[in-house]
Amino acid sequence: MPVRASVLVLALSLAVPCAAWTSPRKEDGARSKLEALARDATPLYCGGRHGRYVALTFDDGPSSYTPRVLQLLRRARARATFFVVGSRAAGRPGLVRAESLLGAVGNHTWTHPRLASLERRDVIRQLLRTQAAVVRATGGVRPLLFRPPYGVGTPAEAAAVHALGLVDVRWSVDSLDSRPGARARAVVGNVIAGLRPGAIVLLHDIHPWTVAALPRILRAVRHRGLTPVTIPELVALDPPSHAELVPVRPSGRCTP
Ligand code: ZN
Repeated sequence: MPVRASVLVLALSLAVPCAAWTSPRKEDGARSKLEALARDATPLYCGGRHGRYVALTFDDGPSSYTPRVLQLLRRARARATFFVVGSRAAGRPGLVRAESLLGAVGNHTWTHPRLASLERRDVIRQLLRTQAAVVRATGGVRPLLFRPPYGVGTPAEAAAVHALGLVDVRWSVDSLDSRPGARARAVVGNVIAGLRPGAIVLLHDIHPWTVAALPRILRAVRHRGLTPVTIPELVALDPPSHAELVPVRPSGRCTP
């Protein structure tokens, strides 16, 4: 990493306060597990299979659909993780604050670029600006999680994520709600087909069909006796096994 970029990362790492958590005991467990993953620079695709937990994740917001998503989650007593685009988060700080109160907020870059097209210093800027926007919106909650746009990591992204002490979070179940022509019914079916303990589900709070699908997804999750939790909670309550962290197939390591 160039010296100037290293200094920038160090300065921002020191400047932003640590995340606020609701429970000190839960904080310690979740933080230590996340810190171990961050130290190892290992992307997370799923939790363990021994618990009864799933993690619903919503990318690319906040948007005008986010309030309804939050309302549906709240009504179902479900927690979730939101990977926000920093430039959108800066424009809707109240929604980011509401997301952090209901669950966890992760970093999804400032403008959602394809990271492979960027210089390393621009990758770092994408992450840092978003960290700062979330800290501002939430009154001091520093994201501990990162998800690369399109799920495509790069060496520069991995180095920046590691330098900032973030965990690179992918998914084990793609709802395919961002595909052209996506419909609520298909989104529900795609999620249900992959539901199992430890699943991390990819959704986007920028589509009306995702909002329409969410009540059915939440019912299916409950029907299977699963509890929707945040990514830090999933990692603390039922961490992935070593085998589930070893990259066997690009997207298949956590599937049944
Ligand atoms: Zn995205």
